[in-house]
Amino acid sequence: MISPVMPTYARAPLSFERGEGCWLIDDKGDRYLDFGAGIAVNALGHAHPALVEALSDQARRLWHTSNLYRVPGQEKLAELLIEHTFADTVFFTNSGAEAMEGCLKAARKFHSHNGSPERTRFVTFEGSFHGRTMFTIAAAGQDKLVNGFGPMPECFDRVPFGDHEALKAAIGPETAAVVIEPVQGEGGIVPVPAQCLKGLRELCDDHGVLLIFDEIQCGMGRTGKLFAHEWSGIEPDLMAVAKGIGGGFPVGAFLATETAAAGMTAGTHGTTYGGNPLAMAVASKVMEIMIAPGFLEHVSRVSGALRQGLEGLVAAHPDVFEHVRGEGLMLGLKCKTANMDVVNSARERGLLLVPAGDNVVRILPPLIIEQAEIDEALRRLEAAATSLESGEKAA
Ligand SMILES: *Cc1c(COP(=O)(O)O)cnc(C)c1O
Repeated sequence: MISPVMPTYARAPLSFERGEGCWLIDDKGDRYLDFGAGIAVNALGHAHPALVEALSDQARRLWHTSNLYRVPGQEKLAELLIEHTFADTVFFTNSGAEAMEGCLKAARKFHSHNGSPERTRFVTFEGSFHGRTMFTIAAAGQDKLVNGFGPMPECFDRVPFGDHEALKAAIGPETAAVVIEPVQGEGGIVPVPAQCLKGLRELCDDHGVLLIFDEIQCGMGRTGKLFAHEWSGIEPDLMAVAKGIGGGFPVGAFLATETAAAGMTAGTHGTTYGGNPLAMAVASKVMEIMIAPGFLEHVSRVSGALRQGLEGLVAAHPDVFEHVRGEGLMLGLKCKTANMDVVNSARERGLLLVPAGDNVVRILPPLIIEQAEIDEALRRLEAAATSLESGEKAA
């Protein structure tokens, strides 16, 4: 008999009752060090007092009004985002996939608005992930995402990751935009070199094509900058944001330059919940904390220590791990043993990690971690690696 909750997830046999900072406590009272952060969502850890206060305060006053009216929280958060990014305007969504859909729609609208309605195609990359709506699974195109859900929209030209010639060849007179994650997340923590992002920006400019960044996973402080593309010095025309921006409250956004958003006039796009006062109260608080002096410096400092520790583990356990990659607190351990064995073995030792493509284990702790928690996580991961070496597989 089918389970009451539709069985689309392969869930670990754990259920949590509460969280405190970087820790999760399950229904048996066991404590887990959370180095997955709900897949890069709980950027400020669990039950951050300032977020609890922002949410409770808003909950007592007003939950929802719809976008038929002005929502002051949207205006406040949009201004904060604009002040700290390339963007001139922001549309709020409930999720990452919707933010990506918004970017794709806005890119087509831009071209039709500017007299090039034939520009409807998108160049995307192998190994990418942009969400689970019909349009976003078609964008990524991986078999495991699209199998059985076809026919897919036939407007995506996928090129191998890092193949500049294939990329050039894929851009044509019908291309609306190039879509890329500055650091691939689900694909296995694969950063795009700054030089490549610069080259991509030039290529797009030369061909009158928009550049869309998916910073849903790598944005919001994860790499030690507010957004990962800042390391490259170039800017997109459109960008999707979600995950960390709500710190655990479901919210996303897509950001645009004034030029790129030219066609997005009243009535062209909408959502009932997007930019709801509860979401705005929490996300504004997340932004305020991240832009405060010292926050991103903290991310860079602790990520250096974590990375060094992981390099040490790789050197000590060459039969389990191959190398460390990533940026800031978006790190990946490329494994020699099956990545799920590492994830399961770490979980049995009270350390939560997240698997990714290319046999990688993702390490995505809350951005507020301190040295003591890094040391503890490294001890637990060391124990997991040692047990895998001795051939004892996790359940
Ligand atoms: C998680 C993710 C998405 C999808 O976000 P949802 O909130 O699950 O819809 C899209 N792109 C990237 C890079 C992601 O990591």
